[in-house]
Amino acid sequence: RAQRQARSSHPAPKVSFEFFPPSSPAIEETLWKSVARLKTLAPEFVSVTYGADGSTRDNTHRVIKALGEQTVIPTMPHLTCVDASKSEVDEVADSYWKMGVRSIMALRGDPASGAGSVYTPKADGYHYAADLVAGLKRQHDFRIGVAAYPETHPEAPSAHFDIDNLKRKFDAGADFAISQFFFSTEAYLRFRDRCVLAGIDKPIIPGILPVTNFNTLKRFAGACGTELPRWLSDSFEGLDNDPETRQLIAANIAIEQVLALQNEGVNDFHFYTLNRAELCYAVCHSLGVRPAVELA
Ligand code: FAD
Repeated sequence: RAQRQARSSHPAPKVSFEFFPPSSPAIEETLWKSVARLKTLAPEFVSVTYGADGSTRDNTHRVIKALGEQTVIPTMPHLTCVDASKSEVDEVADSYWKMGVRSIMALRGDPASGAGSVYTPKADGYHYAADLVAGLKRQHDFRIGVAAYPETHPEAPSAHFDIDNLKRKFDAGADFAISQFFFSTEAYLRFRDRCVLAGIDKPIIPGILPVTNFNTLKRFAGACGTELPRWLSDSFEGLDNDPETRQLIAANIAIEQVLALQNEGVNDFHFYTLNRAELCYAVCHSLGVRPAVELA
C-alpha cells in the first residue's frame, strides 16, 4: 500500500483520480502509463468519464473493465441519463454490477449539442441526476457519487435552488459528491458551509484540476461556470510557447490550492488528471501521499 504520511497536524489525505476514455492510440498509451504511475499512490478509487455518443460510452465500459483486470483499486464509471431511456441506462448499470463494479458517478449529462444548449428531459428517461440516483439505488446497492457546483450550475435558477438539488440527490441515496473544478478556495468553503446549513452531512470532495494550458481552460470554464480569477490568467501570461515553465507554474498553483484546502480541514481530494500523471503525482506528494517502499 501507499504510505500516507500525515503532514504535521493534518490527518493523512485520501485521493482519487479521474480519467477519460481514450480516443486515439496515443492517448490510450498515455492513459495506461498514467494509471501505472498513479496507482502506486493507492487511491480510494479511479473514475472514468462518460461521453455524449455511443462509441465513447462503449469506451468507458472497456476502460473500466481493463482497469478492473489490471488493478485492485475500486473503479467508478460515470453514467449519464441524458438522451437515453431508463431501460438503456439500467442495462448499462446492470452490466457494471455483474462486472463487479460497486460505485457509480451518477450525472444528468449535457445534450449532445454541447453544454449551454437547452436541456429537454426525455419522456421515457431519468429527467435529472436525482431521478437517476433513485433509479440506480432501486436496481442495485451501488455506492453513488454525484456532482456539486461550488459556483452554481449554469442552468440553475439560483444558488439556493442548486444546493436544494444537491440535497435531493443525497436524499435519493447518493453517498458523496465531487465538486466541479474551481480556483477560488473561498467559493468552495462558502459552498461547503451553505451545504451544511441546508442539512447536507455527506462528503463534498473538491475536484482539483491542475492547469497547464490556460487557453484550453478558458473554454472548459466558460461552459461550466467556473470563475477564472485574474491572478490565474496573470500566472500564465506570456507563456503560450513555454510548456516547461507552464508545467512548473501549474504544479505550484495546484499545490497551493490543496494545501489551503487541507488547512481548512479537507481530507479527500479528487483529481481531474486529463489522463496525465505528472502534476497529480507531484500534488499528491506535497500532501504527503507517497508510493509504497518495496521491502527487500
Ligand atoms: P443535475 O443534478 O440533474 O442538475 C442539472 C441542472 O438542473 C442544475 O442546474 C439543477 O439545479 C437543475 N435541476 C435539477 N433538478 C431540476 C428540476 N426538477 N427542475 C428544473 N431544474 C432542475 N458530464 C458528462 O457528460 N460525462 C461525465 O462523465 C461527467 N462527469 C462529471 C463529473 C463531475 C465531478 C462533474 C462536476 C460534472 C461532470 N459532468 C459530466 C458534467 C455534468 O453532466 C453537467 O454539469 C450537467 O450539466 C449536469 O449534470 P448533474 O448531474 O449535475 O445534473
